[in-house]
Amino acid sequence: MKCPVCKNPDLRPTMIEELLPSMGCEACKGSLVSLLYYRHWAEHHKPHYDSPPSSVTVVPDSINALRCPKCERIMTKYRISGVVTNRLDVCPGCDEAWLDGGEWQLLEQLQLSDKLPSVFTEAWQRKVRSEANEHLRREGLRRAIGDEDANKVESLRAWLNGHPAKSTILTYLYRE
Ligand SMILES: [Zn+2]
Ligand SMILES: [Zn+2]
Repeated sequence: MKCPVCKNPDLRPTMIEELLPSMGCEACKGSLVSLLYYRHWAEHHKPHYDSPPSSVTVVPDSINALRCPKCERIMTKYRISGVVTNRLDVCPGCDEAWLDGGEWQLLEQLQLSDKLPSVFTEAWQRKVRSEANEHLRREGLRRAIGDEDANKVESLRAWLNGHPAKSTILTYLYRE
């Protein structure tokens, strides 16, 4: 099997994680993970996250459509989260996922390394789209009024959302 990104080097058996085998490319560090093995690994060796997600490192993503190294079919892309643009490629026929170099570490940073099959569902993708829109709106607000005021708006919004008289307050503010 050839690497779907570099095309040339043969994929070699490797371990993406202790007890999670994959076929890796030595050139681009990408790896092909069998979702069958993955489910078994996630069931028995579920990672335990005991602190909230930290900031994430930007990892380059292969933008082009990839062909499955096993069957040559075009793989489907699934965005993993609203805060990063990386997408994972999945072959619908072979039940195999392609992770570009660094994307496994990215999944760990986002605390999603035990959630792969959920990422490949329409419900998850809808959630990602609304997270991404929210992220864009926040960035737009920050650019428009600066970080400090944007933080004030965020805390005002959090306070408002938890307030029993939210609509009364909003009506009052709109009339100003
Ligand atoms: Zn490669
Ligand atoms: Zn395939």
